[in-house]
Amino acid sequence: MFARISARLRPMIRVETLVLVVVAWMLAVFNGGWWSAVGAGRDWSSPQNWLFLLACFAALTLLHFAVIVAVSNRWIVRPLLTLLVVLAAATAYFVHTFNVILDPTMMENVLRTDKNEVADLLNFELFAWIIGWSALPVAFIWLVRLQPVPLLRAFFIRLGTVIAALVLGVLAIVPISRDISSFMRNQREARYLITPANYLWGLALNTFHNSRDADAPREPVGRDARLLPAAGTGPPHVLVLVIGETARAENFSLLGYSRETNPELAQAGVTVFSAVKSCGTSTEVSVPCMFSPYGRANYDEHRIRRSETLLDVLVRAGYRVHWIDNQSGCKGVCKGPGVEFEKIDPRSDAGLCSDGECFDEIMARRLQAELPDVHGNTVFVLHMMGNHGPAYFRRYPPAYRKFTPDCATAELRDCSREEVVNAYDNAILYTDHVLASLVKILGEQSTRLDSAMLYVSDHGESLGEKGLYLHGIPYAIAPEQQTHVPMIVWLSKTLTDSGDVNAQCVNAKANEPLSHDNLFHSVLGLMDVSTSAYRADRDLFAGCRGPTDRSLVQSGNH
Ligand SMILES: [Zn+2]
Repeated sequence: MFARISARLRPMIRVETLVLVVVAWMLAVFNGGWWSAVGAGRDWSSPQNWLFLLACFAALTLLHFAVIVAVSNRWIVRPLLTLLVVLAAATAYFVHTFNVILDPTMMENVLRTDKNEVADLLNFELFAWIIGWSALPVAFIWLVRLQPVPLLRAFFIRLGTVIAALVLGVLAIVPISRDISSFMRNQREARYLITPANYLWGLALNTFHNSRDADAPREPVGRDARLLPAAGTGPPHVLVLVIGETARAENFSLLGYSRETNPELAQAGVTVFSAVKSCGTSTEVSVPCMFSPYGRANYDEHRIRRSETLLDVLVRAGYRVHWIDNQSGCKGVCKGPGVEFEKIDPRSDAGLCSDGECFDEIMARRLQAELPDVHGNTVFVLHMMGNHGPAYFRRYPPAYRKFTPDCATAELRDCSREEVVNAYDNAILYTDHVLASLVKILGEQSTRLDSAMLYVSDHGESLGEKGLYLHGIPYAIAPEQQTHVPMIVWLSKTLTDSGDVNAQCVNAKANEPLSHDNLFHSVLGLMDVSTSAYRADRDLFAGCRGPTDRSLVQSGNH
């Protein structure tokens, strides 16, 4: 269609010029977060600061240009630049709207979200934003004519350009090097605001990691696991381990929140732990971490991902392990042999499911259906949808719409902060109901089964504090709201009456500082599994068990 537009309106330019213009546009327009971070607190009447900004812009433009022009040619440059511009516009939208920082971990979250979660994030505002900010550069990209250059000559021009851009880019940094390096030291995470470098780097790193991790054999964990003989007698052990989603401690009335968000659990006879830190600020980090023996204390993402998990140890000790997922999968922790994985089928219950998603009560229904057939030691892992945002309003049925007005859109900017918090609290209220239902179901079978429920959220959430929303802020600078999570334990009467676990003793630990690092060892302890991978000092039930306690501690020390 551009052919009909007069050639006079379609300037003939080189590939290099096209790339330079578009890159300069991206750096100038899609980097609001970066420019306001780097410009914060500067005196704009001083020319030195303008010089700094200019040198910074020149350096970033030239370095981006060098990378992109190196992989461009006349045939792919238009689609390539179009893609880069559209993705940069989308990135700028999320940085602007949610204050997110697109580091490689956040990029991993983006790449691994399932299609329902993505659907929550796609909205009219996002599309309008992308079209609004991309229309001009995209029109330019497709309107200009590209100067044909013989192949060999084009190659040498390209090579010379890349070298020149790199040299000039580095030269531009020299006069501002002290300023920029002290800024980067103080705000290490700000570099992930630079678009499109942030998402290109995240994509490259994740692709590399995935290809490296894909078929590496997993490092063994607790190969010597066995059930303590003392535990072999008596009724079967059943643990319901509930992995919560995006629930922060601050909004649990059981932990002091002024609103009544836990009316049912308050009556359920549970122990609530008040000082629990998550391993990460995203599902992708926290879930693998909490099922590993290494945890945050010895955090090594690569090692965690390629090691066996708590579930493998339980299977080896003779437990049946059944993961029931109402979310985006088990993040690699359930891939061992013998671990059953079940994704909730949204067609299975029209009353609780719609649009391919189910309310978390579906997990209680599944447990109720499974439990009569349980005759041996079993661990159920229930992975909740919880408070997954930003569409909090889709996490609870109308009966739990207690706090109103509640934000009824995933476009949080269209709601007041109060409406966002209301929707979030309704989702907590519903989680309270789901957890209390699980306790009730286990309680009904407690003459037959030694059962327990352990709930812990994967990470917290920001709800407008310091202007932040959602989660995923790099751990080192994450606000408490994203890392302080609720953890709840319920022990059946058979378990406590038999002297297996002393409930008062567990209760007395409610305010101890704990973290996701305690989960691996506490589950093994509670389930009477002996292995060299077990550490008593991280077992929250250590010292609170009956006859099995001493043998466990001994086995953990060799
Ligand atoms: Zn999560």
